[in-house]
Amino acid sequence: MELTIAQKLEALLKLQSIDSQLDEIIKLRGDLPEEVRDLEDEIAGFETRIGKFNAEIQALEEEIERNRNVKKDAEKLINKYKDQQMNVRNNREYDAISKEIELQSLEIELADKRINEATFRIRTKEEEIKVTQNTLKERQEDLKAKKGELDQLTSESQEDEKKLMQHREEQSHHIEERLLKSYNKIRNNAINGLAVVTVKRGACGGCFNVVPPQRQADIRDKKKIIVCEHCGRIFADAEGAPEPATTGRR
Ligand SMILES: [Zn+2]
Repeated sequence: MELTIAQKLEALLKLQSIDSQLDEIIKLRGDLPEEVRDLEDEIAGFETRIGKFNAEIQALEEEIERNRNVKKDAEKLINKYKDQQMNVRNNREYDAISKEIELQSLEIELADKRINEATFRIRTKEEEIKVTQNTLKERQEDLKAKKGELDQLTSESQEDEKKLMQHREEQSHHIEERLLKSYNKIRNNAINGLAVVTVKRGACGGCFNVVPPQRQADIRDKKKIIVCEHCGRIFADAEGAPEPATTGRR
């Protein structure tokens, strides 16, 4: 059954009213959903950072372990060389072994230096972890509070929202797909969520630009769907129909 233009406009206006009520519910939540999302992102960032620090500490600990082994090997070699030095046949052999011992002593010094550096860097990382963990804890508490607030608001309006969503679903079936599509498109682009408006006091109810009297008459006729030439919103009706002067109304 093909609906008349007037019926189509009426159906659109009903849908708009449902959507506007849904918008009001969402608006009550204010910036909370966004704040919750931001906090969740921030917390994930801190957790990643702490994970990175821990991985760096592990790498540094492995470096320390490696250098401890280098030291052990060098010490073993030095002991071996010292034994050999007891049994040299001449000064040349003695000096050659002394050189080897010197080299291994340098290895030990270098390993000690690396161990000290790595130990220092581990301490710095541990400090950074502590600071990050404190901030993380604060943010987690913020998140808990904000989430609680949001959950409270959401649960309060849950019933209404569910009912409105059902109405929306039903009402959508009364509107042909092509029209519904443009309705949704206009609504998505409109800051105030209005896709269907009426002419109020001679102006578009969406963008408040003046609608010429002839156009207002066409809108009232409802012979075709007319959109605002300024904002593209659909006109459902024009209030204040020109009536005979005797009624005293305009
Ligand atoms: Zn407009």
